[in-house]
Amino acid sequence: RESKGKLPRYPGLERWTLVEKMGDGAFSNVYRARDNNHQYPEVAIKVVRKFEMNSTQGKGVMHPDYENKATKTVERANILKEVQIMRQLDHPNIVGLVDFSESRQYYYIILELCPGGELFHQIVRLTYFSEDLARHVITQVANALEYLHEEAGVVHRDIKPENLLFYPIPFVPTKNPKPKHPDDEDKADEGEFVHGQGAGGIGVIKIADFGLSKIIWDSVTQTPCGTVGYTAPEIVKDERYSKSVDMWALGCVLYTLLCGFPPFYDESIQVLTEKVARGQYTFLSPWWDDISKSAQDLVSHLLTVDPEKRYDIKQFLAHPWIRKTNEPTYAAL
Ligand code: ADP
Ligand code: MG
Repeated sequence: RESKGKLPRYPGLERWTLVEKMGDGAFSNVYRARDNNHQYPEVAIKVVRKFEMNSTQGKGVMHPDYENKATKTVERANILKEVQIMRQLDHPNIVGLVDFSESRQYYYIILELCPGGELFHQIVRLTYFSEDLARHVITQVANALEYLHEEAGVVHRDIKPENLLFYPIPFVPTKNPKPKHPDDEDKADEGEFVHGQGAGGIGVIKIADFGLSKIIWDSVTQTPCGTVGYTAPEIVKDERYSKSVDMWALGCVLYTLLCGFPPFYDESIQVLTEKVARGQYTFLSPWWDDISKSAQDLVSHLLTVDPEKRYDIKQFLAHPWIRKTNEPTYAAL
């Protein structure tokens, strides 16, 4: 992790003190930051570069007009849409938007901080999740999707473990929480995460990254698509299927949580694409041998190629495997 001294300074971000870098993408860097005004607790700041210098190296002979010209890499409209959508959302399992601003070169999206980071790293750490832990996690993601699909009219379109962030359950001392006595060296300060698998507990899960999200047309309230009467059937159909995209991704995440590897994989992109198109996956032995038939049944209703037959969010939440415990009681995990 980057040290404090090496963190860049951004114009217009004087209110915040960057603490560490939490993530980086092609055009964005995400930092943990403190509020110098002490109004907010620590936040996450997604800094998005507006331009990138064209690299003319390795591209053969370029016209002089083209060389070293800055090109827009991130469309303003896309960033504004991401922020606009986040602004409308309010749910405990969705990363909150604190503020948005920009300078000449950057956009700044100020977000609620998820101190645990990506669920992705937790899967790597734990190899795979118990069914109870997987249920604890996926139910929260599903609650957020229910809100997005049924209330906000938004499809996320990029649900994956890198975009699922979490709050850790704090370390809880269970034995001898008193100050250490030298004679008691090994008994003192012993504790554990309230969570099952010891290595670190996952508390609240939050969906992040609305960079690919979209507002969908609601056929009931006839918003926000304008003149509904003129909408072509393929558009209406598209909108109806768009939610099912998130449900497929939810199935991929659930599969991955339970066994530790994704349902579809191939080194060749072409072969992988074929496998996905055909919905060609298996509950691979021995990894799936001890996972309940009920969990497999739920996964298979999500990884269904026909979007009409695929479970929607209501069906997902009503499935017996989900309903088994509907309270995220940490003690039970
Ligand atoms: P990108 O569009 O580049 O994928 P994201 O919004 O997904 O941007 O952010 C990139 C990464 O930054 C995330 O995968 C995560 O590791 C980290 N990150 C983003 N938002 C937060 C946050 N609110 N709290 C903690 N980490 C975050
Ligand atoms: Mg992302």
